[in-house]
Amino acid sequence: MIKAVFFDFVGTLLSKESEAVTHLKIMEEVLKNANAKVEVNAKQLLEEYEHLTKEEFSKLAGKPYKPIRIIEIEVLEKLAQKHGFKVPEDFWQTHLKMHQLYGKLYPEVVETLKELRKRGYHVGLITDSDNDYLRAHLEALGILNLFDSITTSEEAGFFKPHPKVFEIALKKAGVKGEEAVYVGDNPLKDCVGARQVDMVSILLDKTGEKRELWGECEFIISDLREVLDIVSEI
Ligand code: CA
Repeated sequence: MIKAVFFDFVGTLLSKESEAVTHLKIMEEVLKNANAKVEVNAKQLLEEYEHLTKEEFSKLAGKPYKPIRIIEIEVLEKLAQKHGFKVPEDFWQTHLKMHQLYGKLYPEVVETLKELRKRGYHVGLITDSDNDYLRAHLEALGILNLFDSITTSEEAGFFKPHPKVFEIALKKAGVKGEEAVYVGDNPLKDCVGARQVDMVSILLDKTGEKRELWGECEFIISDLREVLDIVSEI
């Protein structure tokens, strides 16, 4: 019987489309505050930034936690050097502010979380995040109080799919792995991570773009409301 439902944050609750908008706004702010002579535009800068951060994060998967703030600042510094501008001193504050302003949840998130809690499930978050970023973001989205527990990589000291992150979350909920499900959008981090501690893995794949990796996950959904049926049937 399932007693706890855990979610990933970015790309699972927080919409990918809104993340793209947020990141573009961040780059616009960076360039606005940087130097008028910069030749790169926000869109190009964002492409390079996303390419490099993605590379960094895949190197760090399952490894000891390093603040995401530091990773992102290091990447931006590389690009600033390349394009001849200075990283604004308030970059991280801007980063948080833009996420608070432009971050949006998928439309079915709030009703799904509320319904799960109403049905008595422990509802938790397990996410590769810095604590300050996550808290600011959840508060701005008005969903901080919809979680019974929140577990971040910062707290666990490791990035997903390291088992420690999942073990801490299970402990907080007071349940065994097989009594919990994890809903995420990354087969290699979320499904692999969940399964190694015997949690049931559910992949949210709204467009079917992860089809090649569906085999890593036990359930594939395109809308979070499907979680309600899955957990009641297991
Ligand atoms: Ca994610």
